Amino acid sequence: MAYDSNNIFAKILRGEIPCTKVAETEHSLAFEDINPQAPTHVLVVPKGAYVSQHDFADKASAEEVKDLWQCVHAAAEAKGVALTGYRSISNHGADSHPDVPHYHVHILGGRPLGRMVRSESP
Ligand code: AMP
Repeated sequence: MAYDSNNIFAKILRGEIPCTKVAETEHSLAFEDINPQAPTHVLVVPKGAYVSQHDFADKASAEEVKDLWQCVHAAAEAKGVALTGYRSISNHGADSHPDVPHYHVHILGGRPLGRMVRSESP
């Protein structure tokens, strides 16, 4: 899948639409999700043009990969969920039902989240 530079997170990274910044590192940005699914719901995105985690894992430099996870760490610290716990999730491909085609890690926390996948699965 080719990267679409008109996606909403690319516009946030270019400063064309606003976001509520939580943390920023050299190659990554963390900001509040506009439709939070938990008391803490932050998105962490690389500044580079990657469609998904699968694409990022294939093409990003080691420096970008390390930086992304350092930004996840910084965001979790900033939101105070490092002590209470959080879940990080990333969607790739049709079965995962992604909405925005720019790689992002969801950080969810601030309450007990329950089990990760519904009990009737697989
Ligand atoms: P996904 O389904 O994994 O692609 O997640 C996309 C996420 O982006 C959803 O949780 C949306 O609520 C969130 N989102 C969409 N537009 C914005 C925006 N302008 N600012 C912050 N979060 C957004």
